[in-house]
Amino acid sequence: MLGNEKKIVIAIDGHSSCGKSTVAREIARKLNYIFIDTGAMYRAVTLYCLRNHIIENGFVGREKLIANLDKIRVSFKYNPGTRNNDVWLNGENVENEIRLLEVSQNVSPVSAVAQVRHLLVSLQQEMGKSKGIVMDGRDIGTVVFPKAELKIFMTALPDVRAQRRFDELTSKGEVVSYEEIRSNILERDHYDETRQESPLRKAEDAIVLDNSYLTKEEQFDWILNLVAKI
Ligand code: C5P
Repeated sequence: MLGNEKKIVIAIDGHSSCGKSTVAREIARKLNYIFIDTGAMYRAVTLYCLRNHIIENGFVGREKLIANLDKIRVSFKYNPGTRNNDVWLNGENVENEIRLLEVSQNVSPVSAVAQVRHLLVSLQQEMGKSKGIVMDGRDIGTVVFPKAELKIFMTALPDVRAQRRFDELTSKGEVVSYEEIRSNILERDHYDETRQESPLRKAEDAIVLDNSYLTKEEQFDWILNLVAKI
């Protein structure tokens, strides 16, 4: 039966807004594993920076951020209402606020700061030490869990990704333009792929999943098939 076999680590990396978290969350549910959205952790740190004037006019005050790192507590708490592991920042549930476009527009430079990465990577490694985890992000298969039993690199055509994110944000009532979303996605990919510290790249042993024309169910089946073979 699914989930009763030896527990493994599933690392899902890939481009922005290609549905990594949706897929990872559902796979974790089906296997009875823990799901960790590491992007939410970088977003929570970014929210802290926006609220505390560490980011101003789109610029990250690197030194100020590093000096404030010990005041930033990021954690996850299960929300029985949504059956989701919500992200908390210093004792406050910020799951909704971290999804705002303003956070998306500032998160990549924050996550390029080495000290931020070291802090969050060590928390992530701690969360996955007992295995039985599905973690999604940009460096999970390359840095956080280089020995993960299953590594997936997800991608999709930029227009498909932009449309999905546009639909998601507008359905929540956020007023955004399709073009703004599309350029944010491409800018984040570029920033994430070209940064010095743990850039986004496919791990050599990762399997590519291009979901441009796949339904969610097709993606779940595809991954569960791989899990069954391990
Ligand atoms: O996954 P999500 O789109 O929410 O991630 C937001 C941003 O956080 C990414 O664009 C990237 O800059 C950063 N990130 C990262 N490493 C991770 C997860 C996210 O650098 N493991």
